Amino acid sequence: MTKKNKRSPKKDTSLQTLDESHLLRALMDLMPDLISVKDLHGKNIWVNRAKLKELGLQDFKDAIGKTAFDFFDRATAEKFKQDDDHVLKTGQPVVNRQEKITDKNGTVRWHLTTKVPWRNGGNEIIGIIIISRDITKRIEVESKLDAERNLLRTLVDNLPDCIYAKDAGGRKILVNPGDLKNLGVKTEAEAIGKTDFDFFPKEVAAEFFKTEQRVLEKGEALINQEEKVVRPNGEVRWVLTTKIPWRDTNGKIIGLVGIGRDITDKKNLEEQISQARRMESIGRLATGVAHDLNNILTPILISIELLRKKLQDEEYLKMLAKAEANAHRGADIIKQMLWFGRGLVGQRLPVNVQHLAEQIAQFATDTFNKSIKIKTQFAPDLWTVTGDSAQLHQVLLNLVANAREAMPNGGTLTIAARNAAADGQRLVVLEIADTGEGIAPELLDRIFEPFFTTKDVGHGLGLSTALSIVKSHGGFIKVESQPGHGATFRVHLPAQN
Ligand code: ADP
Repeated sequence: MTKKNKRSPKKDTSLQTLDESHLLRALMDLMPDLISVKDLHGKNIWVNRAKLKELGLQDFKDAIGKTAFDFFDRATAEKFKQDDDHVLKTGQPVVNRQEKITDKNGTVRWHLTTKVPWRNGGNEIIGIIIISRDITKRIEVESKLDAERNLLRTLVDNLPDCIYAKDAGGRKILVNPGDLKNLGVKTEAEAIGKTDFDFFPKEVAAEFFKTEQRVLEKGEALINQEEKVVRPNGEVRWVLTTKIPWRDTNGKIIGLVGIGRDITDKKNLEEQISQARRMESIGRLATGVAHDLNNILTPILISIELLRKKLQDEEYLKMLAKAEANAHRGADIIKQMLWFGRGLVGQRLPVNVQHLAEQIAQFATDTFNKSIKIKTQFAPDLWTVTGDSAQLHQVLLNLVANAREAMPNGGTLTIAARNAAADGQRLVVLEIADTGEGIAPELLDRIFEPFFTTKDVGHGLGLSTALSIVKSHGGFIKVESQPGHGATFRVHLPAQN
């Protein structure tokens, strides 16, 4: 153009030649790009049809002499002016500038704009030629894609699961923080492009590879498969894995997308529950056996005591002592078994308290020394409690055994039951009272401690077992005693509603 300008400057700068001018006009108007020519003050001298349309005008006359400030918002026009001034001042073009354009109505468009200086024949800058391509659609698509990408990345990066994508060769092309942790590395750069063989022991990686081949070759998704993963640091984790074939737009499988959820904690919990179940059945068994053995041993011990009084022969008495010692050892083991079984098992069935107390009273009558008088007092219409009758039987048994031991020289054992209410709660109170030696005030706090005893070694579990059983039934035990004047134990159990 410069060359041409020199030859015929007048013609080219003003586009005066009719034919050429028409041709140029026609050409320019056919172009989808927006073309305008401005003077040194930024005023339009010439615009093509596309530009006219963009300005929202019908008549070319309305565009001429106007500046960007007439059509666009102030900030947009200022930016245009900055670029224009730069071109006019330096003579340097501005090439492919991406411009955000807001018109007076607030509508936003995007242009890719090139501005070049317009010179006259004397090579002086007399204006500026501007060509813009509307790239609004492309920008919109790009920003939509960006938003989608951002949403995906947010999901991928923030889900606690490990999420990854691999190409058909098993190389990682996407990893999230969960997967990085799984691989035992800190940054994406350490994972991208690598395969499982770079991270896991060979056998583990080979196993992954095998299952993934099925996904890649057959296109079958692998859904929620439990996998045992030995992490690079040797830690064993359980992972619930899903692997889905990843296809290109033509449907060809180009890799896979995987999600792994760490279910180690859940697995451990399941294991704990099944362990607890096993313990529960052992406890149930232990309690049952102990209960039966107790019923066997108690009469043996009582018979030994009775026999001792009848026997004079030293040798027989020695044998008896041995038999008694062994029976006591057996009784201790039973106590331990009960101790173990306590809390682990427990039925919750309706229990008739009077029936239970009568059984105990009968047992005491049958087995206790006749110097101990046994009395029962049952209030009418006793409420039923909910619980484990064998355990409650054990509670009463422990309490009457203590009462007996507190009355070596005889006395009165009273077994009573009545209804009561506390804080609006219905309770059944079972009372075991003796007229024995009583309990020193300073010991009252301690008698429920496991292994607390004022008797021989091997004792001390009776009251603690009784208390934990009663507690597991939602109840409590109160004790009243004065040394020399006996003791009264009151077992409070919630009544069935
Ligand atoms: P053990 O009777 O085997 O010693 P317990 O836990 O049943 O174990 O009782 C703990 C202690 O509480 C006993 O050693 C005894 O000192 C005291 N005790 C329990 N019941 C009575 C009672 N009825 N009269 C006096 N003391 C009692």
